[in-house]
Amino acid sequence: MPPHSLAGKTGLVVGVANKRSLAWAIANAAAAEGASLALTYQGERLEENVRDLASALADPLILPCDVTNDAEMDAVFAAVASRFGGLDFLVHGAAYALREDLARPFSETSREGFRVALDVSAFSLIALARRAAPLMEARGGGSILTLTYLGSARVFPNYNVMGVAKAALEASVRYLASELGPKQIRVNAISAGPVKTLAASGIAGFSSILQTYRDRAPLRRTVEGADVADAALFLLGPAGRAVTAEVLFVDGGYHAMGI
Ligand code: NAD
Repeated sequence: MPPHSLAGKTGLVVGVANKRSLAWAIANAAAAEGASLALTYQGERLEENVRDLASALADPLILPCDVTNDAEMDAVFAAVASRFGGLDFLVHGAAYALREDLARPFSETSREGFRVALDVSAFSLIALARRAAPLMEARGGGSILTLTYLGSARVFPNYNVMGVAKAALEASVRYLASELGPKQIRVNAISAGPVKTLAASGIAGFSSILQTYRDRAPLRRTVEGADVADAALFLLGPAGRAVTAEVLFVDGGYHAMGI
């Protein structure tokens, strides 16, 4: 089988909001490699967007899923089990923080803002992985992929509580990889460079972060959804079969720079 082929594989993609979503770039690339997909949308507000985008895919399953709602998550996995009888990969691209926490001084992060950011952006990976694992076991293994950012380890202006959530998310990748590895379920993250998406628009001063990458990343450019999607194919498919517990930087090399 070609190293990136996902022919005969089934995947669940959480985190598509619109055509700019990194999760959509990954879904599109996975479908092009032959995967059958289930996509979720967060609330009725985004349903039409996701249905419109998904109309380009071959017979996808489209389901509501707010990751703070256990019953909705249960229903997603019940529907995936009934349609596909198992699951080969899961893409987790959900993240959220209160807008005010992405603009005010970090020390003023509210208790509720901290809880919400960590719940939606980090705990949700654990909650989804727990439900995905039995379906992946039924296939003899699987691949779970989440999306993170260098703000987990370094300070970026206004990234604030989202940086704390990404640190928790990356630690969760390692604990999940350790626990699920014996079942041949791999768990990895892509740490993407900044891309102008809906989530990014919530971060005050995001344009100046983009410019810094153009000026200082070794490749002297920012990344696009397609760059992230191609790396995702590697981690989701057979080429990545021995890779787990990894955070793979797809950021033009920016993470390596001191100044
Ligand atoms: P996006 O806004 O397109 O995607 C974020 C998604 O999270 C949306 O689909 C939204 O509906 C979903 N979401 C938020 N709250 C949710 C909830 N309660 N339940 C279910 N879904 C919920 O933006 P994006 O940039 O594509 O973000 C995808 C992932 O990539 C995020 O984890 C983000 O932190 C990460 N990331 C983004 C960048 C960037 O610069 N855009 C860089 C590195 C990592």
